[in-house]
Amino acid sequence: MIELRKDYILDRWVILAPSRKKRPRDFARQAADTASNACVFCSGNEKLTPKEIGRINSPGGGWAMRWFQNLFPAVTEEGPKEARTDNSFYTFAAAYGSHEIIVETPEHGRQLWDFTAEEVLQLLMLYRERITELGKKDSIKYVAVFKNHGLEAGASLAHSHSQVASVNILPQQVREETEAVKNHNSCPYCRIIETEKNSYRRCFENNYAVAFTPYASRFNFEIWIFPRRHFRQLSDATADELQGISQVLQQVLAKLRELNAPYNYVLHYLPATEGSSDFHFHIEVQPRLSTWAGFEFNTGIVINSVTPEDAARFYRGEER
Ligand SMILES: [Zn+2]
Ligand SMILES: [Zn+2]
Ligand SMILES: [Zn+2]
Repeated sequence: MIELRKDYILDRWVILAPSRKKRPRDFARQAADTASNACVFCSGNEKLTPKEIGRINSPGGGWAMRWFQNLFPAVTEEGPKEARTDNSFYTFAAAYGSHEIIVETPEHGRQLWDFTAEEVLQLLMLYRERITELGKKDSIKYVAVFKNHGLEAGASLAHSHSQVASVNILPQQVREETEAVKNHNSCPYCRIIETEKNSYRRCFENNYAVAFTPYASRFNFEIWIFPRRHFRQLSDATADELQGISQVLQQVLAKLRELNAPYNYVLHYLPATEGSSDFHFHIEVQPRLSTWAGFEFNTGIVINSVTPEDAARFYRGEER
């Protein structure tokens, strides 16, 4: 069983996954895996991955994308799903859920930022399907969808992939945003989108989606993507809206390719199971070009050396 533990008093959870059985010396820095010969995600090495859950066939033969359980999962379907507290301070449960890898392409040398908007759309549609599928399972409160690209962003394998992990708590990150939304009479994000699309932080827009660098960006070149229309989760999006979001995401990633930037992106939404609250779906893209250090961990205040206004000029192609 993988354990989920809560901080003594804060709404802050950790997953203890010692099944990864690392010895201290295994934490020594290693070079990124860039060789394709031993890559388990490559076409031809399918038998080296855990059992395939599904695949999208490529019109030209073979597969375009395939997904399976993570060999080193952060959550598993084992142990007690409900949290309980012992001796006032020890709140714990199993880190319960499933953790899938989506390999986005059979080609080792091709990254998501090389994809066409149509191919990005295919990935977003797959995210939507996996969220719905995993979200149906008993005791699941949230299905986290994210991508790590580059060693600094936590990707130990260079072959382009995303991850989908269902968990038995509503993560603090999502709850914090949801609670903050409640402090406003109407959706603040709807108004933020309207304001930012005409600001110095505007980056990309089409009829269905906008992207801007957030006013208090925490990461160099951080950028957020929102659908213009208010809806809380990916499954509420129309086909046109999904296409619009894909187009903007593709534009963002193509700019990150110019910087060869390691990055994470995360989907933020509120699942239907959280019936009483409301939210505005969005994707946060977080390039990992700097390291958070003592000041950040001491204070929670991030020092960002690139202003969002300068970052937006880069995204708009006004500065290189
Ligand atoms: Zn590969
Ligand atoms: Zn809204
Ligand atoms: Zn967010």
